[in-house]
Amino acid sequence: MFLIDCGEGTQVQLRKNKIKFSKINHIFISHLHGDHFYGLVGLVSTFMLLNRVNDLHIYGPKGVKEVIKLQFRLSNSWPNYGLFFHELKSKESEIVFEDDKVLVKTIPLKHRVYTNGFLFQEKIGARKLNLDAVQNYEIDKCYYQKIKNGKDITLEDGRVIENHKLTFDPISPMSYAFCSDTVYDESIIPLINEVDVLYHESTFLQSEEALAGKTMHCTAKEAATIALKANVKQLVLGHYSTRYANIDLFKEEAETIFPDILLADDGKSFDF
Ligand SMILES: [Zn+2]
Ligand SMILES: [Zn+2]
Repeated sequence: MFLIDCGEGTQVQLRKNKIKFSKINHIFISHLHGDHFYGLVGLVSTFMLLNRVNDLHIYGPKGVKEVIKLQFRLSNSWPNYGLFFHELKSKESEIVFEDDKVLVKTIPLKHRVYTNGFLFQEKIGARKLNLDAVQNYEIDKCYYQKIKNGKDITLEDGRVIENHKLTFDPISPMSYAFCSDTVYDESIIPLINEVDVLYHESTFLQSEEALAGKTMHCTAKEAATIALKANVKQLVLGHYSTRYANIDLFKEEAETIFPDILLADDGKSFDF
């Protein structure tokens, strides 16, 4: 389970939505504006109270370690679990996390301070065993792992059974790109090209286009244009300015450019 950004309300929302704290082992911080990290010191402190065992990894701009450690030092309380900071300063995309299931890369964004989005790419899993087929050929269980890895099998009578007769294709891997906060920037398109789900900030509506440019944020129409040009499957909007009472306006505006729009909101969850 990955947590991306940690505003001051994050801990409350995690509790409200019954997310298990102990499952969060990696936290990705896009940039050091308060609405994206003021909840971080509170959350890492709560992990101390909960007698966390697992290591916690925090990925974020250079300076994130200093700001968290200062608060530990002044309150003279230090984590009783492994806390590791991975500070970022590159302006090029880089791999920040990888295991056997997923790869996470930064998406350099243009904002008022150093900012990264994050791209999560699932890896192609092992092939699925066709249990009926392997039992029909009376193949011993000790070969199952080899078959899942794509190997053909030679039977005792010398017949070679090709792998595709013994397996099903793996589930196709999914990708998710998180892009907040940023000005309209087409240079991210090659990085997020054809992702399954793009979360892109839309702080303003097109009526506030000039303000969006000045504050280095995007409008709903601009976010939809990025989604269209990057040929993504679905677009999730969020990070709306509080000046708008009705967030449906963001969907209406974005839908004039791109068809598949979801509106992120507190407590909402999406299945993909
Ligand atoms: Zn910001
Ligand atoms: Zn923000």
